[in-house]
Amino acid sequence: MRHGAKPEIIEFAARDGFRLNLHHFPGRRAGHGEPVIVLHGAGVRANLFLPPVEETFVDALLDAGYDVWLLNWRASIDLRPNEWTLQDAAVLDHPAAVRTVLDRTGAKSAKAVIHCQGSTSFMMSAVAGLLPEITTVVSNAVALHPIVPRLAYLKSRYVTNSVGRFMTYLNPQWGLSAPRGWPTLIDWFVRATHHECNNPVCKHSSFTFGAGFPTLWRHENLDDDVHEWLKGEFAHVPMSFFREMHDCIAAGVLVSNGKYPELPRVFDAQAPKTEARFVFLGGEFNQCFVPESQQRTFDFFDRHTPGRHAFYELSGYGHLDVFVGKNAARDNFPLIIDELRRN
Ligand SMILES: [Zn+2]
Repeated sequence: MRHGAKPEIIEFAARDGFRLNLHHFPGRRAGHGEPVIVLHGAGVRANLFLPPVEETFVDALLDAGYDVWLLNWRASIDLRPNEWTLQDAAVLDHPAAVRTVLDRTGAKSAKAVIHCQGSTSFMMSAVAGLLPEITTVVSNAVALHPIVPRLAYLKSRYVTNSVGRFMTYLNPQWGLSAPRGWPTLIDWFVRATHHECNNPVCKHSSFTFGAGFPTLWRHENLDDDVHEWLKGEFAHVPMSFFREMHDCIAAGVLVSNGKYPELPRVFDAQAPKTEARFVFLGGEFNQCFVPESQQRTFDFFDRHTPGRHAFYELSGYGHLDVFVGKNAARDNFPLIIDELRRN
């Protein structure tokens, strides 16, 4: 990281009391500048945006004059393991996180950059009208319409209906040390089927999140240090999430189970209750959620407010390499910053 700043860590409670935190990198403008909240995906953590590269996404946001807030929401591996769902995060975490940032900064509004399941859960919250202070959202990989490669769908159905019944979590760390029983069997299966590299956590993350070789990035887009660093960035993901996502993939759109009256049952069945501008990014070679996922959510927003939103297919990119790829600072960060500035 070029700025080399240590973040200020701000703990706060979600609506149900679950302890979350924000990693705050203060902007360098007087009054710190406009806040941007950045959300990681499932089974990772805020640190995902700080790979060992010269120019991280946080550097790019600081250079652009923003006040940067990386959220550890309940899917974070830095927090107590818990059987979360996207709906829980949408209702309990994200509105509390936005409120915390606005209270601490005195700002009236904030922007957000959201990745993968940080994106799906934040989008649930936004379209349900729970985030009225958010003015611009840049979403990567998937938003309201999760579409996965066919093989990944079949695998998801198999895992959720079979071994998933006997386990509470899947964990890419099993590549380094697998407890006896199902984890050992899964590790054996991953070793037998994945020969794309020598990083066991990389291979397990491919198995955990899809059916690609690899699923979450293109190896040619990562430098060796980042590929090695990823070993420490992926851990437990609860089956409660995989079951919920499986239902959403089967429906072709995010759906809720009625647990929270704040949320619609089908997230694209009514007009979105948000005034924010949305920018959807999808990697051309994303093996986790195909870029058509983002195209569909863009089409939904464009139908309701034509000409206001944007969709970009990122040529040559996969999923997480959009943020941690060796050329991400050159290829993707300027686009994201430009879109954050436009309003
Ligand atoms: Zn690998």
